[in-house]
Amino acid sequence: MLETQGYAVTDPKADFKPWRFERREVGPHDVLIEILYCGVCHSDIHQARDEWGGSMYPMVPGHEIVGRVAEVGAEVSKFKAGDLAGVGCFVDSCRECSSCQEGLEQYCEGHIAMTYNGTEADQKTPTYGGYSSHIVSDEAYTLKIAPSAKLEAVAPLLCAGITTYSPLRRFGVKAGDKVGVVGLGGLGHMAVKLAASMGAEVTVLSTSPSKEEDARRLGAHHFVVTREPQNLQVLANSFDLIIDAVSAEHDLNLYLGLLKRDGALVLVGAPEKPASVHAFSLIPKRRTLAGSMIGGIAETQEMLDYCAEHNIVSDVEVIPIQKIEEAYERTIKGDVRYRFVIDMKSL
Ligand code: NAP
Ligand code: ZN
Ligand code: ZN
Repeated sequence: MLETQGYAVTDPKADFKPWRFERREVGPHDVLIEILYCGVCHSDIHQARDEWGGSMYPMVPGHEIVGRVAEVGAEVSKFKAGDLAGVGCFVDSCRECSSCQEGLEQYCEGHIAMTYNGTEADQKTPTYGGYSSHIVSDEAYTLKIAPSAKLEAVAPLLCAGITTYSPLRRFGVKAGDKVGVVGLGGLGHMAVKLAASMGAEVTVLSTSPSKEEDARRLGAHHFVVTREPQNLQVLANSFDLIIDAVSAEHDLNLYLGLLKRDGALVLVGAPEKPASVHAFSLIPKRRTLAGSMIGGIAETQEMLDYCAEHNIVSDVEVIPIQKIEEAYERTIKGDVRYRFVIDMKSL
């Protein structure tokens, strides 16, 4: 077994503490990755604090992992020692169901091994995430990372990047489409960069007037403060697609009303409490309310290659792991520009 150093919480109210645990030996298809950077996703906060229910402790969160391959198993062909590698939100799946067969492993109908707060393919061994020194991962579920001068800014692509790229592709966003992004946080700022890179006319719908300048720098063409109802009225029936990346309770009907006929509101944000939707927010203009979860391995690789080609990375604030509690508090307050990333040298 491989001794690993990490940071864990032991219950929903506990603070993070250093924690030693063991990872499996490197198997024939595995790579051992020395973790360099790990992004801090709001899903880490929801799960560490058991806001979605069913959290498993001790928990080592972290699913935006970038590192260097230290060792490879005998059968590994995709990686060699010294390569850069990434791990996202899941580390295995059943490999047999129709979703797995179609490269949509994130919707696996069998057992999916989430990177943390889950169990390995054996459905018994707990998984531990990227707030740690090393991870052992099957090469089939490990992403290739192109060399970058800003590796720390690549890490958030593994969740925030793919979670917004996937619905933009699925809904066929093209040049000239009007795309709204609700919530300018980790996911939201990637949605803006990606949608703008695809030629869309992007509007940020935000509760934070102070983010306007940033939104425009990130590629948005318009910025709307949602706390003022008259600002939304003038946008009625105007968007082809809206990506909703808000982490807390909010009124979906307000945003559904901004969609054109046949437009779609895609939820990627996952608030703790359920939302209420009025049928007449959907019926008269044949609108769609949809959800989307991360992306499959092939699409995640496609997104990483697309971002490398288009020079797209995340805007990050790098922190030592000892500041993780403060980073959580600031994320909850919306005080992050736009992703905290842990420098694992600080472990
Ligand atoms: P984040 O960085 O905290 O951003 C969330 C943004 O939502 C904030 O920056 C803020 O933007 C807005 N917001 C926060 N509280 C709000 C409130 N009370 N009312 C209205 N707006 C509010 O979070 P994130 O890491 O981007 O994650 C966002 C959500 O997506 C989380 O729920 C997370 O669990 C979920 N998620 C889902 C997937 C998936 O596969 N679907 C993957 C990753 C994350 P403004 O200041 O601009 O209003
Ligand atoms: Zn995430
Ligand atoms: Zn499956």
